[in-house]
Amino acid sequence: MAKVSGPVPPLAPHVRAALAAALLAALASLGSARPKRVLVEPRAPSASSPSAMGPLAVCPPGALPDGDACVPFRRGDLDEGKALLAERNTHTDKRGRSQSYEQIPRQPDRPAAYEAYLFPIPTAPDEKLVVGGYDLHRDDQDQRRGAHLSAVGHGGVDVVARRGTPVRSLPLEHQEGDAEIRYAGALFGQTVVTSHTVRQGGRLRDYVVLHGHLDGIARGVAAGRVVKAGEQLGEVGDTGSEGLVHLHLEIRQVRDGVDVRALSGHDLADNARTVPVDPRNLLPLR
Ligand SMILES: [Zn+2]
Repeated sequence: MAKVSGPVPPLAPHVRAALAAALLAALASLGSARPKRVLVEPRAPSASSPSAMGPLAVCPPGALPDGDACVPFRRGDLDEGKALLAERNTHTDKRGRSQSYEQIPRQPDRPAAYEAYLFPIPTAPDEKLVVGGYDLHRDDQDQRRGAHLSAVGHGGVDVVARRGTPVRSLPLEHQEGDAEIRYAGALFGQTVVTSHTVRQGGRLRDYVVLHGHLDGIARGVAAGRVVKAGEQLGEVGDTGSEGLVHLHLEIRQVRDGVDVRALSGHDLADNARTVPVDPRNLLPLR
C-alpha cells in the first residue's frame, strides 16, 4: 500500500468510511481462492493531482484507492514465491582443476527434511525417501563423489521407488498454468523434462524439471505437449544407472533471456542456459 510521509490531516468521516469499505473489499478478495489479478499503474503524484484527501477512485479488484489513483494491492507471498538468486560455488574436477559454477541453495524458510515435500511419485507419510540429496551448495569435499571422480556434486534428488512406479507431473510451488513437455528421450537414462512457469518476486520465471532413469516413457509424452497435474510421464527404472532403481529429480531455473521452448536434450541441463536449484525451494509441501 502507499506509504504516507509527513503529518497526515484527519480524514473526513465519509473518506474514512470509504477507506474502510475498500480495505474490507481487499481483505475479502484476499480470502478467495484465486482472485483475478488486475494490475493498475499507480499514477505518479503531480502538482495538478488532488491530494490524498481528494475523491477516492473506484478501483478494480487487486487495487486499492489512494486519493484518485488506484495502487496495486500486494498479495505478498500468498500466491507468489520469493525471487531465487543463484550463488557461486566451486568443485575440483578429476584433473584437479577448480571449476566454478552457479547454483540456487535451499532458502532458509524451506524445511530441510525431504519428507516434508511431495514428489512426482506416490510416497507414504512416514517413508524415508531420499538416498541422495542436493549437495551443490556444500564445500567441495562434502559433495557426492561417484565411482568415477568426474561425478562430483549432485544437482538433484534421488528417490528410491519400485521399478514401474508411475512418475506423474507435479505442479511446482506458485506455478501458473499447466506444465509442458520439453523433451522425452536419452539424457539421464530415459528422461522426461517438463517446463513450468512460476510467479516469483513479482515476475514469471521458467523452470525445467528433469525426471531421470525412467524404465519407460508414457505413451503420448512428446515435446510441446501440455501436461495436466497428475498425468503420467513414465515409470521409475534404472536406465543409465543399471542396478540402482530410482528417480533422479532435478529442477533448474531457466536463465534470463533464454527461451525455454527452444531448448531440448542436453541444452536443458546446460549450465549456460539453466541453473540447478535445490528442489526444496519449488516442490510443494505435503
Ligand atoms: Zn541423481
